[in-house]
Amino acid sequence: MERDETPARSREQILAEAATQLRGHLTFEQGMGSHGIPSVVGEGRLSELPQAGDSRPPAGPYSADPEVPVAPGGDRMTTAGAQEGLAGPRGLPLAERERRLATLAQEAAECRACVLHERRNRNVFARGNPASDIAFVGEGPGRDEDRKGLPFVGAAGQLLDKMVAAMGYARDDVYICNVVKCRPPENRTPRAEEALACAKFLRSQLEIVAPTVIVALGRCAAEHLGVAGQEGPWRGRWGSFQGIEVMPTYHPAFLLRSPQFKRVVWQDLQKVMAKLSGDQPRGSAST
Ligand code: SF4
Repeated sequence: MERDETPARSREQILAEAATQLRGHLTFEQGMGSHGIPSVVGEGRLSELPQAGDSRPPAGPYSADPEVPVAPGGDRMTTAGAQEGLAGPRGLPLAERERRLATLAQEAAECRACVLHERRNRNVFARGNPASDIAFVGEGPGRDEDRKGLPFVGAAGQLLDKMVAAMGYARDDVYICNVVKCRPPENRTPRAEEALACAKFLRSQLEIVAPTVIVALGRCAAEHLGVAGQEGPWRGRWGSFQGIEVMPTYHPAFLLRSPQFKRVVWQDLQKVMAKLSGDQPRGSAST
């Protein structure tokens, strides 16, 4: 019989880490409205759900992935910006960030660079802390956002707020914006030319905020930030947008329709939390 060479303290550390991860997961589940962790999800078992790095929906009743890629053949936003990388004014005083962002938001409010301006009620620029170390980038405003002029204030926004809270942040301690600032009709996915026209705003606001990590919410955001292709796995893998690390994961609106994917989103957010604390979660690949 082999001797167990693992020092007692290491085992304690391992157990403590596991307990921390479990506690975080339970907080996440509870915050998202769950009352326990199911052993099965509908007719599909948990083991059939996608693992980290596997964006493919599982077979069976969950095979339809409603997250629509951007139109084929369109330019990506990353081709609109210069290739030299963001200047990243880290250390910029808060007041200066706010001044620059206010100027940018005013420009966006008057923008008519794409057809989306024609039916907008309000331009939806951003909300949250412009000095945050984490920025969430979604797809585009929905009906509630178009009415209020703020991103992620509808049902998906409330779910995002719970995700943010599970990560240990206050609601307004993170920076939140979208690929396009005006609502696409019927909440359709922004077209490539619309995202490209709006790229100057997204690129500039991310340059001013200069977060340590960007979380791309949904395939559209991931594609336009240049960290996902139109086909194949895309979520759960680190990418980079102009020098800022990007973690792509599912959009909260998708989670509302398909809550069985909460677990993999929590895995992605754990990687972000570990990155921000300068550590990698146990067993995760830093891809
Ligand atoms: S979506 Fe962007 S580029 Fe299009 S009109 Fe609105 S602010 Fe301008």
